[in-house]
Amino acid sequence: VISREDALRLDEDDPLAAYRERFVISDPAIIYMNGNSLGRMPVAAAERVREVTSLEWGSRLAGSWPHWIELPSRIGDLIGVDILGARPGEVVVSDSTSVNLYKLASAALQLTAPRSVILTEAANFPSDLYVLDGVARAAGARVRRLAGDPPDAGSLAATLGADVALVCFSHVNYRSAGLADLAAMTTLARDAGALTLWDLSHSAGVVPVELEACGVDLAVGCTYKYLSGGPGSPAFLYARRGLQDRLLSPISGWFGHRDQFGFSSEFEPADGVGRFMVGTPPIVSLAAVECGARLVADAGIAAIRAKSVAITELMIGLFDQWLAPLGFALASPRDPARRGSHLAFRHPAAWPISRTLVERCGVVVDFREPDVVRFGIGPLYTRFVDAWDAMDRTRTAVADGMHLEFAAERSGVT
Ligand SMILES: *Cc1c(COP(=O)(O)O)cnc(C)c1O
Repeated sequence: VISREDALRLDEDDPLAAYRERFVISDPAIIYMNGNSLGRMPVAAAERVREVTSLEWGSRLAGSWPHWIELPSRIGDLIGVDILGARPGEVVVSDSTSVNLYKLASAALQLTAPRSVILTEAANFPSDLYVLDGVARAAGARVRRLAGDPPDAGSLAATLGADVALVCFSHVNYRSAGLADLAAMTTLARDAGALTLWDLSHSAGVVPVELEACGVDLAVGCTYKYLSGGPGSPAFLYARRGLQDRLLSPISGWFGHRDQFGFSSEFEPADGVGRFMVGTPPIVSLAAVECGARLVADAGIAAIRAKSVAITELMIGLFDQWLAPLGFALASPRDPARRGSHLAFRHPAAWPISRTLVERCGVVVDFREPDVVRFGIGPLYTRFVDAWDAMDRTRTAVADGMHLEFAAERSGVT
């Protein structure tokens, strides 16, 4: 089994090691394994927010709008072109992931009528399931949920029929980290005449995504996980160029108007992906998104992915040695090609164990129903030795029964 000294050596040889200094780490004793939920704050984001509030909002006030108005498409291109393999003008930053999902799924249903089935997965993120049900309700369509975590290309192929309008999956599952075969599933859907809409929330910034090369039609994702955009930072949405001008948002707002400042009383959609914008963006939060996205783009997805795989592989080796004998089961795929950047460990006492790790052991993990503890790796700031220490503290805590002091029932934000 790998020693702590081995882990320290891996950090010395890590080409991304210097990126850790680009993030605010207020307490080095805390091991933060929650970057899959809320990425650490870039140092530059704090500076940027100070500049936006003091100079742009504080001094120049509305005179800053000519600069602010460009942010959704400028940051959209940074994320789209440098991180997601899209072309310029295909991504915009706007609203939340849930709202963007609603807008794109509604537009897709309208375009593909009379097809009326949305295919998704039973294991999808709950908000995605709720939103798709709402879209279907409003459009008189139906949702079919495929089994599998994630469903494989074979089960998709078996379900695709002439009635399927839209195929909507998560690229990486929020609970298990199972990674779907985006390329194969997108091709299958296209060949069956359906549109594809991928939720990239758990892959953007950490798993390679080739939107253009794979022929993906539509995508959404959040910016506060591996892109480190900050709590509640606005999400991104992608629409393939060839499709944009045939899609209509179900919410026609002035920011999606062809001539926003013409103040016409009739709506006319803008050309391009900007037609999916709705109202005034949250500028302070939006401006900060650029900082984390820039760090990811600079480091490069290939290097980030390589480190993410190396750390999760190290952890699985320790898991087998240390945690499996304590009643844990691995709920993430063993094949690194089939998983994202977090690990899900199942245990009957997952809730009290997660509280013990956070409150007693300085290991910030989170809990997901019904019995999962998630350990997230943010490769730009998580070190190999952090992963080693987190596993070591977990085995010690559980072997010593520290979690028995905590209530067995879940409460509060998890
Ligand atoms: C985190 C996450 C979201 C977040 O949705 P918001 O509307 O931005 O809160 C959506 N979908 C998936 C798959 C996620 O992991």
